[in-house]
Amino acid sequence: MALSFQLKAQNELERMGRSNIPLPSGPETSCPNCHRTLKIRTLEENAHTCTCGHHFRMPARRRIAFLTDSDSFFELFAEVEANDPLAFPTYPDKLRKARSTGERESVITGYAKIHGQECCLFVMEPGFMMGSLGSGTGEKITRLFELATEKRLPVVGVTVSGGARMQEGLVSLMQMAKISGAVARHGKAGLLYLVLLSDPTTGGVTASFAMEGDIILAEPGATVGFAGARVIEQTTKEPLPVGFQTAESMLEHGFVDAIVERKRMKKTIGALLKLHKRI
Ligand SMILES: [Zn+2]
Repeated sequence: MALSFQLKAQNELERMGRSNIPLPSGPETSCPNCHRTLKIRTLEENAHTCTCGHHFRMPARRRIAFLTDSDSFFELFAEVEANDPLAFPTYPDKLRKARSTGERESVITGYAKIHGQECCLFVMEPGFMMGSLGSGTGEKITRLFELATEKRLPVVGVTVSGGARMQEGLVSLMQMAKISGAVARHGKAGLLYLVLLSDPTTGGVTASFAMEGDIILAEPGATVGFAGARVIEQTTKEPLPVGFQTAESMLEHGFVDAIVERKRMKKTIGALLKLHKRI
């Protein structure tokens, strides 16, 4: 029963990751909220947001360029990448396809300055297997927290994920505990961890490091949840409230500290880092 629920949940999350507002490609796209046709260039100039307020998903490197001070980002642990510990059928093909994005894993980690404030930064990549949590992802984020603890730096993380990477089975699930251990040691050292939930943040990532921030911000309209809404409805056989698993409902129920529009994000994170700076 538990396994069947888990598999259903995984399928739901994969479906959600694929069908929910894809990353725009080509010269034009349409806004899923106001249905306006938007030029990709205009969208990029507006930090991947529509004038109606809809926030599109943002590729990790673009997010880093948008969030950090010019030329301040220094990538770390780029050599760590996914492998295939279970020799899972079709996984090598999926990895090959994911790597056509130019990334080796579903997260980019490094050192950066945000509004002049030093931090260790991780940003998940929606184009790489929907930011799923593989062993390489877990290793990179863990190393980043360990480095931040050693150097006494805050960590800023941007999450976007369909959850655990089922092709790595238990090895993927153990990343949740591994990262959580590193987050706890960083916290015990009195250091700040600020997390930004972007669309979608779900599954094992929500069940671990996405919800362990000292400060948790979210982008407007982002889906934030564990199992998919349809799976929950089918299991509980009860209708779910309107706005279930949105950033707005997470704020209302105390899981999120603030919803911040992307155009104010850099300034907000910079101010929070400055406010919590160790003297
Ligand atoms: Zn729109």
